[in-house]
Amino acid sequence: MPSTSADRWRELRAQLPQGSRLLAVSKGHPASAVREIAALGQRAFGESRLQEAQQKQAELADLPLDWHFIGRLQSNKVRAVVRAFSVIHSLDSWSLAERASRIASEEERSPEVYLQVKLRPDPSKGGWSAADLLEAWPRLAALPGLRIRGLMTMAPQGLNATERLSLFGDCTALADRLALPERSMGMSGDWPEAAASGSTWLRLGSALFGPRPPVKEG
Ligand SMILES: *Cc1c(COP(=O)(O)O)cnc(C)c1O
Repeated sequence: MPSTSADRWRELRAQLPQGSRLLAVSKGHPASAVREIAALGQRAFGESRLQEAQQKQAELADLPLDWHFIGRLQSNKVRAVVRAFSVIHSLDSWSLAERASRIASEEERSPEVYLQVKLRPDPSKGGWSAADLLEAWPRLAALPGLRIRGLMTMAPQGLNATERLSLFGDCTALADRLALPERSMGMSGDWPEAAASGSTWLRLGSALFGPRPPVKEG
């Protein structure tokens, strides 16, 4: 019998080490798929495209869900993201952090935010290097309106399991150095290494919901 998302949710939850939580990444999947997992007790859902997320949120307004923004954040979408999401995992530059701080204050919201770091070369992704983050940290920590809770990272394509363990371990060490309690690390293809290295949020899409249909922009 083919497994359902509900089966996979139960299986994944049973495998998570203590301290690792499951962020159900529902991008590319309909509101009905979210509803099915929410019925099991899942509250935290991750989305990376604003319009798609807003449509789903409207359809699911009767449920008490926590929405996490995990995608690349464009500066002209910061206000809408601050309004629609309680957690932002992908603040990857000083200008974005400063803008999010100003807009959060204007909107009288105080989102939890994660700073996205890039600890290995990866031309396809943004993020702070460890050195740049340490240098910017005093200014970041002083920004009003944002509750900086942790670091987020993604492993570049092509690392083996040992290299991923090393990368995720470095991210945890950097978060510890800044006394940040949360580490958003691990996706469907690499979550066991992330969980073993101290991830507090595993961002799982296809391992939970199955393959995504091709990406639509928006
Ligand atoms: C899509 C996405 C995920 C989930 O990816 P899967 O491989 O389907 O688990 C996790 N994190 C980010 C930032 C994403 O964009």
